[in-house]
Amino acid sequence: MGKSLKHIGVLTSGGDAPGMNAAIRSVVRTCTHHGIEVTGFYEGYQGVIDDNAETLDARAVAHIINRGGTMLRSARCAEFRTREGRQKAYDNLKKRGIEGLVVIGGDGSFTGASLLSDEFDIPVIGIPGTIDNDIYGTDFTIGFDTALNTVVDAVDRIRDTATSHNRLFFIEVMGRDSGFIALNAGIAVGATNILIPEESTELDEVITKLKTGRENGKTSSIVLVAEGEKMGDALFMAEETKKHLPDYDIRVSVLGHMQRGGNPTCADRVLATRLGVAAVEQLMAGHSSVMCGVRNGSVCTVSIHDAISRKPGIDRNLMHIAEIVSL
Ligand code: ADP
Repeated sequence: MGKSLKHIGVLTSGGDAPGMNAAIRSVVRTCTHHGIEVTGFYEGYQGVIDDNAETLDARAVAHIINRGGTMLRSARCAEFRTREGRQKAYDNLKKRGIEGLVVIGGDGSFTGASLLSDEFDIPVIGIPGTIDNDIYGTDFTIGFDTALNTVVDAVDRIRDTATSHNRLFFIEVMGRDSGFIALNAGIAVGATNILIPEESTELDEVITKLKTGRENGKTSSIVLVAEGEKMGDALFMAEETKKHLPDYDIRVSVLGHMQRGGNPTCADRVLATRLGVAAVEQLMAGHSSVMCGVRNGSVCTVSIHDAISRKPGIDRNLMHIAEIVSL
């Protein structure tokens, strides 16, 4: 253990994700357990710049483990991208006697944390909170499992109407840069095609597969499209397909922000709790500029630099599996 830690800060930043509350609770209660004071900053880095914050004790985080969103709220803060903004943030941290900061967010938030730490020598620890699962160094990010289950539930409902009316549905799910949600949910809902940014697919392949499916007796189909798919969005894909398959009853559904909401699943609550404990322990051990994650079932750390500069690869084996079972 390094020198004894007395006071840390915690914030949530960037896109919100279910399970962020469970992570805040875990950070706060771990600090209480070790006799460390915790200040929670509201609205991400904006709250640090504005000194919009309050002390959090164990009771302040009661009844939040089950709630989606984040009690500290989240924000995108342009001022923190400037050196002057980060100087203000550092001055406020110093004024409060804060010796380390836990940042719960995505790679943008970690980039900001890394700059703050490099410029002002304040320890920062990252906890990956994003529904997209697109962070290097962890098998899962907080919120991914909940979002997956939300998508699966929504698509199951759409499938009921798809099968009743022999329809072909193009369903767009979140994932601007990554296809983790589309790939995993696509397997779970039995999608005919899964279109993700990591994989280049031709429209011809999609159409051939849909035609073959129909020839083999398939009466309805679901095509899952990640929003970052390079060929175009779900609406575009549907319109293009209609040109080639005019007798198909084609519909489009864009799931949108509902994917971010809802109570976190058990897996996300447990992950968030494990990573909250780990983050405080990292600060107590005198470490900085690392992200806590989980690899092969065990909590691990990775340098924030790697977390933000490297991209997690999509599981090719999962792609192969999806291909086999989507006849
Ligand atoms: P996420 O953390 O979900 O990827 P963003 O990319 O919007 O979300 O980043 C969240 C916040 O992190 C930004 O509003 C900004 O305050 C801070 N941030 C992001 N990128 C940088 C950067 N290059 N330099 C400094 N701060 C950044």
